[in-house]
Order: sequence, then C-alpha cells, then structure tokens
Amino acid sequence: MNKEKRLEILTRLRDDNPHPTTELEFTTPFELLIAVLLSAQATDVSVNKATRKLYPVANTPQAILDLGVDGLKDYIKTIGLFNSKAENTIKTCRMLVELHNSVVPEDRAALEALPGVGRKTANVVLNTAFGWPTIAVDTHIYRVSNRTKLAMGKTVDDVEQKLLKVVPKEFKVDVHHWLILHGRYICVARKPKCGACLIEDLCEFKEKIE
Ligand code: SF4
Repeated sequence: MNKEKRLEILTRLRDDNPHPTTELEFTTPFELLIAVLLSAQATDVSVNKATRKLYPVANTPQAILDLGVDGLKDYIKTIGLFNSKAENTIKTCRMLVELHNSVVPEDRAALEALPGVGRKTANVVLNTAFGWPTIAVDTHIYRVSNRTKLAMGKTVDDVEQKLLKVVPKEFKVDVHHWLILHGRYICVARKPKCGACLIEDLCEFKEKIE
C-alpha cells in the first residue's frame, strides 16, 4: 500500500472518531492493568461486568491481595481462564506492593516482568494509561492490517513493527484503538461489512463482501 492511501485511511478513521479509547472500564492505571490482564481471550463486556463489582470493593494492589486467590475468583469466575488469571493477578499485586510501592510502573521491562503481563498488555497500559505511542496488536488489528494491506506481517510482532514504522507520528497514540474498533465492528473475522466500511475504496483486500 502506498503512503498516500495509508494517510487517507488513518485520516478517515481519525475524522470518524477523534478521541478513541478502550472499551474496558477503568479509572486508574492499576484498574486498567488488571482489566487488560483479565481480558486475554475474553470479551471486554465480560471483563467490565466483573470489574464493576470488583473495583468498588478492591481497586488497589493491597486490597486485591487481601481478597486472596479464592476471594478474587468469586468476582471473576464468569471470565474465561479465571483460575490462572486469579493466580497471576494476585502475584502481580504482590509484586506491585513489594517492588513498586503499589504503583503501576511506567516502564516496559517492569510491566512485562509482572505475571500474566506480556508485550500486548504492556503496550495497552503504556498507551492508554500513560499516552505512549505504542501499538498493541491483537487479533483484530492483525486481521485489519493484513486485509487492508495497511501493514502486512506473518505474526503480531511483525505487524506491530510494521505499523510502528509506517504510521506517522500524529496518528500513533490512537491508531491501535481505531484498528481494534474497526476490526471488532466492521472488518469482522467471518463476514467483513465492506458495504458499511468507510475505507472500502482504499482497502486492498481482494475478497471484499459488498
Ligand atoms: S473494505 Fe471490507 S475488508 Fe476492507 S477494511 Fe473494510 S470491512 Fe475490512
């Protein structure tokens, strides 16, 4: 895809949604971190349902530690993979208390050292809590980037590196939200809604569905 087309796609996505953000509900970096950790292979809707009950009771590392693994499970048992997520959340809270003064570190290496926190979660937290121009590539962004040919790659890491290279600075902070939302609601996995797509004329996917 050429530079002009790429710029036009990003401009249209921005004009359509100038202030995008995550659909996960949070009020602090810690709430965001835990919500992202819980959202792996689960929907944001299911995470929000659980955190709406959990956070009024416990929304700090110490408060969640005090719940213990079993206490925490009671709040998150409707979320997929809740057993391992409860274990990781408790371990992460313990590390935040013991090593980071109960504050979410604004540091990639420190975030990725937390149990259950990989590159994607660190990218989301750095981007959405701290405003870094990081691009967390999930299944939606991977699909949209490859289909449109905005940034092609065989793995999520390839696509992340490509996007970081080709997306101009002014779009970097928000591009991950635009692409996730586009993939979640328009460029869906099975039957993309090409007829309702605002970048249809620019997209280079060969099997568009009208
Ligand atoms: S035209 Fe279709 S394939 Fe291309 S981005 Fe839009 S929805 Fe996805």
